[in-house]
Amino acid sequence: MIPQAKLRLFLLLGCVVVAAGAFATGGDAPADLILTHGRVWTAAPERSWAEAIAVRGSRIVYVGTAAGAEALRGPKTETIDLGGRFAMPGFNDSHIHLMSGALSLERVDLIEEQTLEAVQARIRSFAAANPTSPWVLGRGWLYGSFPGGLPTKSQLDAVVADRPAYMECYDGHSGWANSKALAIAGITKDTKDPENGIIVRDPTTGEPTGALKESATALVDSKIPVPEGEARYQLLLRALQLLSSEGITSVQDAGDAVWPLSADLPLFERAQKEGKLNVRIVAALVMEPKGPEAAIAEAKRLGAAHRDDRLLRFGTVKGFVDGVIEAHTAAMLEPYSDDPALGRGLPNWLPDALKAAVVAADKEGLQVYLHAIGDSGVRMALDAYEAAREQNGPRDRRGRIEHIETIAAQDYPRFASLGVIASMQPLHANPDRNYFDVWARNAGPERASRGFSWANIERAGGRLVFGSDWPVVTSDVFRGLYCAVTRKTREGTPPEGSHPELAVSLESALRHYTSDAAYASFEEGIKGSLTEGRLADVIVLSEDPFKGPPETLLKTKVLLTLMDGKRVHASPTFTACARRAARGWRGENAGRARPRQ
Ligand SMILES: [Zn+2]
Repeated sequence: MIPQAKLRLFLLLGCVVVAAGAFATGGDAPADLILTHGRVWTAAPERSWAEAIAVRGSRIVYVGTAAGAEALRGPKTETIDLGGRFAMPGFNDSHIHLMSGALSLERVDLIEEQTLEAVQARIRSFAAANPTSPWVLGRGWLYGSFPGGLPTKSQLDAVVADRPAYMECYDGHSGWANSKALAIAGITKDTKDPENGIIVRDPTTGEPTGALKESATALVDSKIPVPEGEARYQLLLRALQLLSSEGITSVQDAGDAVWPLSADLPLFERAQKEGKLNVRIVAALVMEPKGPEAAIAEAKRLGAAHRDDRLLRFGTVKGFVDGVIEAHTAAMLEPYSDDPALGRGLPNWLPDALKAAVVAADKEGLQVYLHAIGDSGVRMALDAYEAAREQNGPRDRRGRIEHIETIAAQDYPRFASLGVIASMQPLHANPDRNYFDVWARNAGPERASRGFSWANIERAGGRLVFGSDWPVVTSDVFRGLYCAVTRKTREGTPPEGSHPELAVSLESALRHYTSDAAYASFEEGIKGSLTEGRLADVIVLSEDPFKGPPETLLKTKVLLTLMDGKRVHASPTFTACARRAARGWRGENAGRARPRQ
């Protein structure tokens, strides 16, 4: 072993003090790991606060006082002195697209840029930093950044002229190509619009403008080289490591028509074999209106094959009831407010076909996710779950509706009465320019007053779970938590929040990312709270989110992530204190922490 490697191993051990203590009394075997002197928020309703946790193998064996944990210390027990720091269960992102997130890691991320100039500057510097990549690729642009709401090829040619460039909109429903990319895709003024897609054209010349809508994006997308083999595997590992560094120990993959997780199964199995699958995954398969049977059969087969797998599970199908409000493709009960001539948006499924598919999947014992964003789409989804109950009888089915960006007031109580889970993504409500200029304009003030209606669904007794929808928005949970509790952008706008009456409490938001999220995948018995017997998925944070203003969330970092009781992420800050620990330092507040019980 080379000296650097020795040093690295030493640092990775973190704030560990191995103490030769007495064996635990009472016949209990000693713990492998103790985290003590912390403010531990457990997410368990019966005991929300503790100061120590003990772990044996992959399980939590004790939650309570420091003295109680001390009794489980043996000669080989590692002890992490939290020094008053905040610990909690690992986050569970209830709605993510893991492979497309992984593949987005080598593309420029435009989601934070609000003006054309800023978007162009970011693409220019990304292209300059990647001079040999044959394509310049990116994602995340917002409609509100472009005059008229859509980008043009000349705006992209201005920053990338030498190579094809293609930028996907943040919602994945529109694309932006430069002239070289349009040429490679063979898109000219003579190209016909594909079914369910639009090549946006100059009204005078008929030339393609560079903006592509819905299925027309595939004309360019299909020409883009996608990393395969080892390169693809390395991107997956980067994605898993990113999630660990953000304190995410579980994800629920909401399906992907282009890059279904099931198609990359060998990569996940390799990661698992190599001990690098450091995030637990439950994955959905997308069922198409033109033949939902295929996804139902495949989800059933994979569900059975991976039933006992704690790291990668299937058994869920996902249907897209409608589109998005920004592109007027979400199904609404009343016409769009910005231009009623655009109508109400068309759902992707006929109501009876949706009911039949949900009933069929439910009959096979599968869980169903339904993407529904417009208030009419949400109602269709609720009706489909009601049909499943009527036709297949009562059972613990935990049907989910994803997004729910608008909802009719009379549908709030149906989440509780039907046992349907509201799966929502706080950052989709981020009240930025895109929200005000496009989303709120299209939805209109009346529907916007029930937009992203977290608190109202909670108040009506519905169960809510939170996620990111990464890579649609960042996977950073703290950004999501901040928006959930303030309804403000991270810049603090609007100062009073956008419909702050729909925000939720911090404790509620944390539960939606932990214990409620575990319920959403039928796994509340093994994870989601720090309770004896549950898996030891634990994170330690740099800040205590319950202390100080909500802005504390925006500067919070994950110091340590444990999965199955093993370190899968330790920040440099945390490892730095290992050096002090090695010199006998026991944390700035050691022994003085008095957690609220
Ligand atoms: Zn999604």
